Amino acid sequence: MRLVVIPGDGIGPETVSVAVTALEKAAQQSGVALDLVHEIAGLDSLAKFGTTVRPELIKTIEAADALMMGPMTTHDLHDDANGRINPSKFFRKYFDLYANIRPARTFEGAPIRIKPFDLVVVRENTEGFYADRNMVSGGSEMLVTDDVVVSLRRITRVCCERIARRAFELAMTRRKRVTIVHKANVLKIGDGMFVQTCEAVAREFPDVTVDSVIVDAMMALVVREPERFDVVVTTNMFGDILSDLTAELAGSLGMAASINAADHFAMAQAAHGSAPDIAGQNIANPLSQIGSAAMLLSWYSQRKAKPQYLEVAQRLEAAMVKTIREGKVTRDMGGDLGTDAVGRAFLANL
Ligand code: ATP
Repeated sequence: MRLVVIPGDGIGPETVSVAVTALEKAAQQSGVALDLVHEIAGLDSLAKFGTTVRPELIKTIEAADALMMGPMTTHDLHDDANGRINPSKFFRKYFDLYANIRPARTFEGAPIRIKPFDLVVVRENTEGFYADRNMVSGGSEMLVTDDVVVSLRRITRVCCERIARRAFELAMTRRKRVTIVHKANVLKIGDGMFVQTCEAVAREFPDVTVDSVIVDAMMALVVREPERFDVVVTTNMFGDILSDLTAELAGSLGMAASINAADHFAMAQAAHGSAPDIAGQNIANPLSQIGSAAMLLSWYSQRKAKPQYLEVAQRLEAAMVKTIREGKVTRDMGGDLGTDAVGRAFLANL
């Protein structure tokens, strides 16, 4: 497996380096070939090459099987023409990474306020209300006058269908339950199409139990009874918001793993941002990035039918469970270890 690794901005270099060491050790234990190609993008690349995403980097990634990227600081990246491209957005769009899979589960030993649970948010990743993603050129948010803004949302049947199919396929490997989260009572046409399309796909999966919940009610239900959910499928922005909530319910946003997957390419990137408030202080939680790496290896194993890569992912997951159970965690999870010390404890548990 050839994997391009980009450290990213903010806490990215700290968390990605821990994830890379863990991945290399787990791969070596399983005797699995892993060809890591170290690259840069984002602010580092802007300083060095005058652009956040170089054309050569795109070629390097195209020649690889997958990408593991740290979070990116994107607030000031508005001008594609001047090399200030948002790398996360760019790769999601360029590689059509339409399925953003964001699991959230409790771990024994992690601080939780509720009963144990284990769910996955499957978030559509290419359209919806994302002004920078849903147009071929230009953005879909417009300043009409200094005091008037119009924001357009794109929903297409093909995108609804493919994300629904990923959700149902995932449910078949889990507890066989899918919840469709939407706002079709207000966004009657767009979310109406999303719900209808999900229900049509559901007919191909008669073993899966399906229900649908309006997004505002979902916020209350998932806090009250997260254990009742298995796979939750939803549109882009609802999925973004809901998955931060479920990550925090599971213990911390610092554990929030995620992959962005197309059919033949995927990018592992933690669900949180670059956390500039804690960058460079050796306190960031690296488990989100390690969890994302594990998800990427399972994805690769399934797509290529190479079970040895699943074994590597399972080693990482087992070490994660053990490290959390031992309380060897960063302060966001109630521990007192630094990023590097969590990394060492993790390696010992591998
Ligand atoms: P960005 O500017 O990239 O969007 P942000 O700080 O606005 O970053 P997040 O990075 O998602 O947004 O962070 C939200 C909060 O969660 C911050 O207070 C941050 O410190 C905390 N946080 C995020 N990731 C981690 C992590 N891996 N470990 C510990 N705390 C984290």
